Amino acid sequence: MERLGPLLRISAGLVLLTSVILIGLDIAGFLPVPSNRAVEERVRLCETLAAQAAAAVEHDDFAAVRSTLRTTVRRNTEVLSAALRTADGRLVVVAGEHRMLWNPDDPERSTATHVRVPLFRSGGPWGTIEVRFQSPESAGLLAALWQRPLVRILVLVGALGFVAYLLFMRRTLRHLDPSAVIPGRVQATLDVMAEGVLLLDQDERIVLANQAFADCVGREPASLLGVKASGLGWKTPHSREDARRLPWVDALRDSEAVTAIPLVLDVENEGSRVFMVNGCPILDGWERAKGAIATFDDVTELEQKRVALEEALKMLEESQEEIQVQNEELKVLAQSDPLTGVPNRRSFMERFEVAFSAATQRDDQLACVMADIDHFKRVNDDHGHVVGDEVIRRVAEALGATLRSSDAVGRYGGEEFCIFLVGADAATAVRTAERLRAKIDSPGFARVPISVSFGVSSLAFGAANLSGLIDQADEALYASKRAGRNRVTRWDEREAV
Ligand code: GH3
Ligand code: MG
Ligand code: MG
Repeated sequence: MERLGPLLRISAGLVLLTSVILIGLDIAGFLPVPSNRAVEERVRLCETLAAQAAAAVEHDDFAAVRSTLRTTVRRNTEVLSAALRTADGRLVVVAGEHRMLWNPDDPERSTATHVRVPLFRSGGPWGTIEVRFQSPESAGLLAALWQRPLVRILVLVGALGFVAYLLFMRRTLRHLDPSAVIPGRVQATLDVMAEGVLLLDQDERIVLANQAFADCVGREPASLLGVKASGLGWKTPHSREDARRLPWVDALRDSEAVTAIPLVLDVENEGSRVFMVNGCPILDGWERAKGAIATFDDVTELEQKRVALEEALKMLEESQEEIQVQNEELKVLAQSDPLTGVPNRRSFMERFEVAFSAATQRDDQLACVMADIDHFKRVNDDHGHVVGDEVIRRVAEALGATLRSSDAVGRYGGEEFCIFLVGADAATAVRTAERLRAKIDSPGFARVPISVSFGVSSLAFGAANLSGLIDQADEALYASKRAGRNRVTRWDEREAV
């Protein structure tokens, strides 16, 4: 049924074309002109009348002429009136309302409505037979038109031609219809498949589209016939550019199957659909592709879920990275002293433990230095806690500045710091402590003048464990305090209380 519309249009077009040709032939004069023929017929009738009248006039038998003319008017519907007129213009015989009806445009010449035929008697002109015919118009416009052969031919061609063209085209198109080569049962079988299927000819024009494919693209299967498969608007997923690789095109070109190519199609009212497409050539006896089958697996929902999963994974990875960064930051924060930024006591002690066991195992040197700001209470009292904090920060900075990466300083108490020096003996540690003491004691070191007392211990002094080593350094520090502060004391040289 859907093919009848174009068929009707084509048939109508052919009828129109034929009509134009016929009109052209008519204009060129190939068709008879009705008016001429009508006049000829009328003149012939009049000549017959004139011949009969001439014979009667020869014997002055005007009654016979009257009878002939009256019979002619009565029998011939086209003849309105007739008369016999003498050469001097007198009407001798009249049939019908001739006096009223005879009003020729040209009294000398016959026309389609006013026909005059001369009568001769004894070899000379005697008069005329006048016949008034009905004008073609008076029979109605349609009847007048119908008189024209062209009009009759056009009507005939219009009616019969249209039906003939229609039947002929239907028959012809059935032979040309690509879908006609597909048996109905094949189409029915393909229609029940969940996968979209296209059967394509050599030019990748659709010969068959199953119901699933038509549903996928939101069209009727028949409306897809003859359409180029590549013209449907395939796009590449993600980039959304026009797809450069179409499986059926490759299959037709290379005569080889192409599988699992993802393609996207924008479907009206449904948005984008994603298909996993396969293309398979239909080969002839010479292994040449004379067509192709393309199958379309609608993976839109699968693809949507995959994209959602991908996004979720990405977010998870991002948040994991974020958590890791935050953990690192927390670790640093947890290990650092918030005021000075040097390791706090706990993390310092962890590192010190590691260094202590390594040194004892390898029998290496290890020194411990304790440092405490002198009279720090006064700094707080005289200048306030803000200045006190700043002094603590400056001292921590100075103590940590020159240490090697193997060594470390930690905030041990309020304004008390502990340092371990890997591989250093007592003398080296004393030199390091002395250098630090001198630096802090120098003018302009901090906002207020301060000094620091130091106590030094060494693994060589025989401490049994880490806490013993620290205690020795602490003892030495208090010896420095007692001795007047701002000095460095070795544990083995301390003045015992
Ligand atoms: P000494 O020379 O004997 O060490 O005298 P000192 O005044 O320094 O005595 P001590 O070491 O006992 O005093 C420590 C003071 O340091 C006590 C406390 O108010 C102060 N302090 C401890 N932690 C902080 C801190 O974080 N900021 C400030 N501003 N003061 C602190
Ligand atoms: Mg103290
Ligand atoms: Mg102090």
